[in-house]
Amino acid sequence: MALSDQEYIRYSRQVMLSQIGEQGQTKLKSSHIIVVGLGGLGCPALQYLAAAGIGELTLIDDDVVDLSNLQRQVLYRSNHIGKAKVDAAEQQLYGLNAQVKITSINKKVEQADLAKRLINADLLLDCTDNASSRYFINKACQQARVALVSAAAIGGNGQLAVFNFAQQKSPCYRCLYPDLDKQIGTSLNCQNAGVLGPVLGVMGSLQAIEAIKLLTQPEQVKANSLMLFDAWQLKFNEVKLNTNRLCVNCS
Ligand SMILES: [Zn+2]
Repeated sequence: MALSDQEYIRYSRQVMLSQIGEQGQTKLKSSHIIVVGLGGLGCPALQYLAAAGIGELTLIDDDVVDLSNLQRQVLYRSNHIGKAKVDAAEQQLYGLNAQVKITSINKKVEQADLAKRLINADLLLDCTDNASSRYFINKACQQARVALVSAAAIGGNGQLAVFNFAQQKSPCYRCLYPDLDKQIGTSLNCQNAGVLGPVLGVMGSLQAIEAIKLLTQPEQVKANSLMLFDAWQLKFNEVKLNTNRLCVNCS
């Protein structure tokens, strides 16, 4: 799959990077990424992935655009209010780069045939905002041995973790958070605790960065670590992740 003249021009600023090059760009073109959750994380991540020339994107979300989303969900415009997020996002992403093949699934991830879709996917971005979806996605990626790029944000804080399930002995999301089940219904999220919009931009952009690296420079990806971002202090901290012997998925 060689690059056309138009593609050379469109992607010239990243093809000229030694870490990407023509080979890396061709790899991005032949790659398929699943993005679950088209909110504050999914919007910036998708925008950068489509712009970077990922060949195929599958979008999964069952929500519609709400007025209160526009503060941070940067793909949507006021005239998208009431429209399915997958449809509004697809329209915006095609406007940005019509060469990307987009499949939109207007369903909850639990009803979206995820296991089947993961067979043909290179990696998945978890941009959801609740524990049950995160557990479901984590388990599906672990079973399919597809790399999972997970992020979250609340208030002025964000976190990012890459679980490279293609590797033996990778920890999983549940090794990190074994007991979110017990908090379902009571846990904080953006809806009840608020979030600074650009924090989601930072974390979603980091997901896109790690996705592009997983496809082109996998050895550079920080797997098995949790990156914590504090916007108020403008600081990143890194925590090493290990497999949890008590994890219900890994033990
Ligand atoms: Zn685990």
